[in-house]
Amino acid sequence: MNRRPTIGIVGAGIGGLALASMLIARGFSVRVFEQAHQFSRLGAGIQMAPNPIAVLRGMGLESRLREVAFAPVSLLNREHDTGNVTNEVIAGPTFEARYGVPYLAMHRADLHRLLASLVPDNVIAFDHKLAAVEYGASDVTLRFTDGTDATVDALVGADGVHSVVRSSFLGEEEPRYSGRIAYRAVFPASLLGDDQINLSRTKWWGPDRHIVIYYITAARDEIYFVTSQPEDATWLTPESWSTRGDMAALRQDFAEFHPDVRKVLNACPDAFKWALMERDPFSHWTERRVALLGDACHPMPPYMAQGAAMALEDAAILARCLQTMQADNFAEAFQLYEAIRKPRATQIQQRSRTNNWLRQQTSTEWVYGYDAWNVPLERPAA
Ligand SMILES: Cc1cc2nc3c(=O)[nH]c(=O)nc-3n(C[C@H](O)[C@H](O)[C@H](O)COP(=O)(O)OP(=O)(O)OC[C@H]3O[C@@H](n4cnc5c(N)ncnc54)[C@H](O)[C@@H]3O)c2cc1C
Repeated sequence: MNRRPTIGIVGAGIGGLALASMLIARGFSVRVFEQAHQFSRLGAGIQMAPNPIAVLRGMGLESRLREVAFAPVSLLNREHDTGNVTNEVIAGPTFEARYGVPYLAMHRADLHRLLASLVPDNVIAFDHKLAAVEYGASDVTLRFTDGTDATVDALVGADGVHSVVRSSFLGEEEPRYSGRIAYRAVFPASLLGDDQINLSRTKWWGPDRHIVIYYITAARDEIYFVTSQPEDATWLTPESWSTRGDMAALRQDFAEFHPDVRKVLNACPDAFKWALMERDPFSHWTERRVALLGDACHPMPPYMAQGAAMALEDAAILARCLQTMQADNFAEAFQLYEAIRKPRATQIQQRSRTNNWLRQQTSTEWVYGYDAWNVPLERPAA
C-alpha cells in the first residue's frame, strides 16, 4: 500500500476517542463515526483508578484531569446499617507513592471532553449510525442507517455494549438480565447544606444491594452515587444512559441504610437507571481487518469500576500494536492486540461479576499496577 492507510473507528465514547487521539498522534489517518448528533453532558460520575490514569498520563491529560477531578482520600467500605468499616484502602499520596499516579473521581462528561479535545473536529462524523459492515479483500465498508457508506482500510468497533461491529462477525447476542438495576445521579452538593459527605469514595454494602457515593469535582460542588439493587424482571429497564428512575422507589429500596446514605438520597432530586445485564466472554474480538475495543468486546458489571479503564488500556495496547505493525498487516496486529488484552479483560470481567471487590481486604496490585504503555507487546504463554 503506497498511501497512508485509514483506520475507521465506530463510536466516539471513551474508548473510541482515546484510540483516535493515540492513532492521530502516531501519524495514522483516522475517521470516527458516531451515531449521536453531538456530545451531551451525561449525568454520571466515573472512578479512574491508577491503571487508567497511567494511560491518561501518557496522553498528556493528567494535569488537566487533576484540575477538574476529585481525589478521594480513601476507598472506604462500610456496612449498610451500622456504618462499620469493613475495609479502607488509603488512596491520596499513598496511592501516588505506590502506583506513581493518583486515584481520581470525576464527571464522566469532563473525562469525555478532555479526550475529545485531543481529536480534531473534522475527524469525527456525527449522525452516522452504523447499520452493517461489509468485509472486502483489502478494505472494510461501513453502511449507515441513512443510506450513506464509507470505506476504510481497517475498522475498530468501539460502539459499546450493543456493538453492531461485534454482531457483524459474532452474530446477534442474547444478554441475560441479571435481575438487578443500577440507579445513578449527579446533583449539586449545595443541596446537602452544611451536612456534607466525607472525602472518601464510600461503598455501603447491604445484604443484596449497595450504593457508592463520592464527589466528582475538585471543587466538591457535585455529588454522584450509583447503586445496584434487585428489580423484578417483569418490568425491564433498558441498558441505557437516559432512562429516568423513580426517586421515591429508590429511597424506599434504601430505607434500611445508614442515615448518611438516606440524607444523600433525600437531597437528590432525580436519578437515572440502567439494567444490569450478564454476558459471557466473547469467543474472539477480531476478524480480519476488524477489531473490537471496550464494552463492545468485554462488557462487565460496574462493580470494580473498571469498564472504562479496560477501554483505555485496550486503546493504548491497540495503538502500540498498530504502531509496530509490519506492512499494513492489520489482521496480525489485531490478533496480537487480542492475545495481549483478552486474558486480562476477561479476568476483570469475571471478577466484576462476583461483586466483592474491596469489601474486605483485597490485593489491588494486579488491577491498579498495570501499565498499558509499558507491558511487553508479546503473546502471553499459553
Ligand atoms: C452505572 C455505571 C457506572 C460505571 N462506572 C464506571 C467507573 O466508575 N469506572 C470505569 O472505568 N467504568 C465504569 N463504568 C463502565 C464504563 O461506563 C464503560 O465501560 C465505558 O463507557 C465503555 O466505553 P466504550 O468506549 O467502550 O463505550 P461507550 O462509552 O458506551 O461508547 C460507545 C459509543 O459508540 C456509539 N455508538 C453505539 N452504537 C453505534 C452505532 N451503531 N453507530 C455509531 N455509533 C455508535 C455510542 O453513541 C457511544 O458514543 C460504568 C458503567 C455503568 C453502567
